[in-house]
Amino acid sequence: MAALYNRAVDREEQSLPIRVLPEEVASAIAAGEVVERPASVVKELVENSLDAGAREIGIRIEGGGKKLIEVADDGDGISPDEIELALARHATSKLTSTEDLFAIGTLGFRGEALSSIGSVSQLELVSCSADGEAGRRLRVEGGKLNAVEKSGASLGTVVRVRQLFYNVPARRKFLKTERTERRRINELVTRYALAYPQVRFHLEHDGRQSFRSPGTGDRREVLVEMFGLDRARQMIPLPPSEGAPLLVEGFVSPPSMSRSNRRELTFFVNGRWVHDASLVAAVLQAYHGLLMVGRYPYAVLFLALPPEAVDVNVHPAKAEVRFREPGTVFSVVQRSVRATLLREAPPPELSFQEGWDAAPKGGRSWLSHLPEAEDDEGLSPEPQRLIPPQRPVGEMPLLRSVGQVGTAYLVAEGPDGLYLIDQHAAHERVLFERMMAELSEGDVESQGLLQAVDIELSEGEADLLAERLEVLSSIGFGIEPFGRRAYRVRAIPALLSGLPPERAIRTVVEEFEEDEEPLADQIEAMVAARVCKRAAIKAGQVLSLEEQRQLIRQLEGCASPRTCPHGRPTMIHLSVESLERQFGRLG
Ligand code: ADP
Ligand code: MG
Repeated sequence: MAALYNRAVDREEQSLPIRVLPEEVASAIAAGEVVERPASVVKELVENSLDAGAREIGIRIEGGGKKLIEVADDGDGISPDEIELALARHATSKLTSTEDLFAIGTLGFRGEALSSIGSVSQLELVSCSADGEAGRRLRVEGGKLNAVEKSGASLGTVVRVRQLFYNVPARRKFLKTERTERRRINELVTRYALAYPQVRFHLEHDGRQSFRSPGTGDRREVLVEMFGLDRARQMIPLPPSEGAPLLVEGFVSPPSMSRSNRRELTFFVNGRWVHDASLVAAVLQAYHGLLMVGRYPYAVLFLALPPEAVDVNVHPAKAEVRFREPGTVFSVVQRSVRATLLREAPPPELSFQEGWDAAPKGGRSWLSHLPEAEDDEGLSPEPQRLIPPQRPVGEMPLLRSVGQVGTAYLVAEGPDGLYLIDQHAAHERVLFERMMAELSEGDVESQGLLQAVDIELSEGEADLLAERLEVLSSIGFGIEPFGRRAYRVRAIPALLSGLPPERAIRTVVEEFEEDEEPLADQIEAMVAARVCKRAAIKAGQVLSLEEQRQLIRQLEGCASPRTCPHGRPTMIHLSVESLERQFGRLG
């Protein structure tokens, strides 16, 4: 009894009773769901501008959005008597009843964005509507309204968000580098520009124009701004799908134009950018058999459905949607992409030798890429000579090559059973260790091009490349900037000498996109791994017995022979014991 009583007193003293959270705390929590990073602020503000019928949207960013995000539009503006309300939580002009929720025609509807952003930043809103009255300027700091004053603004709205998360240090600390935030913002703005081609977008980072769209209504012109002329020209338009329960339009890449990740699969549903795994799957399925394993297409698809056929109120950031008939959506998308591909781009002959067949001419085999092979005539390897004495022995037993199966795996015998070696993974490992050794000596073999090649990149790619020029030159690329988003390639790593220079560059740039913040000392290894993956022999390539033996021997000489540079196994071991067990010779 006494104990119980004491506990109750303790509780009182620690003041733990349930309480309604103070308004600032509640809105900071809600803000976390809507506003995750600078790009999410840009998204909310741009969506508001679009909802207001803007024809022109200017975006200025400083410090990757941590210092300043400004979005200015020439839309309808907010009338003076409503401007304070715009910043209140759950204040929206776009929704009045629950029924409306199921047929949403605007991008915003939750009435949360401005109040959320205002609660975690210093926000300034200047707006003037067409009702003849003077405009208003309003300031909010950490959720507190500071001032409303008259302002001689022109028609439209400007929102400035300064010092995002200044009062939520934990969140500010978690923001990625400026470069990453810049990239996210670029990704967002270019995609909205594509979805709304009739609107002129400008995007500026730290005073420098980074992207603009002409606002002519022609999506292809926006594609040129995004991807450069060459790639934009190759994209195939999807004919509008007549008669289907939903409208699908947009662009997809021909099978000859692919990339190493899924980042360029973009979907808009009723004008809203969404992330949806089943739409991604539908597109990938449409490319089935047309792309090599590990390659992904580019696609920008716009779906239009009756508002009641899709629920957009699934997530506060409105990035996910729920279709009423997901199966129908999947199959319409899959079929229209597939039909377009087959009509416009007959399947190319898949070449497993890609990147290899153009290797130095003159009857030399792929082995010419490898270090001088020991000229050993005997059939069985001679252990003492094969492993350089300074290397730790014991990582991999010495193997005798038996043959090749499925033109992909080498069969070898060791003292303790059978080994199946993935020829591609093994060669990757061999090339990688050789390149890393050359790197540490500062002497990676580079191949000058007879004629320099100019390539055009997207803003984001050029940005990434600019930061990695030094690493690229250390691994054998000779590249220099040449205009705003163009680069001149004078040399490529000798290992990639069979690839067209443009492919060689894209091979590594796409890798940069994958990792948000690689450690500086890992970048070289990552790029090297990427290059080696490209240069390694592929599955499907027939190897002579001599080539098989040489590959196995080189693998034996590696410091980490059991995995490829990306961590996948190079070999599978079947022990004598397990063989005997399988054949019923062992208990
Ligand atoms: P929502 O967009 O979900 O309605 P917001 O918090 O983003 O909520 O905006 C609140 C309201 O402020 C909007 O409903 C709209 O009336 C007004 N508003 C916000 N931004 C603009 C703008 N750029 N132009 C005109 N009105 C705006
Ligand atoms: Mg909004």
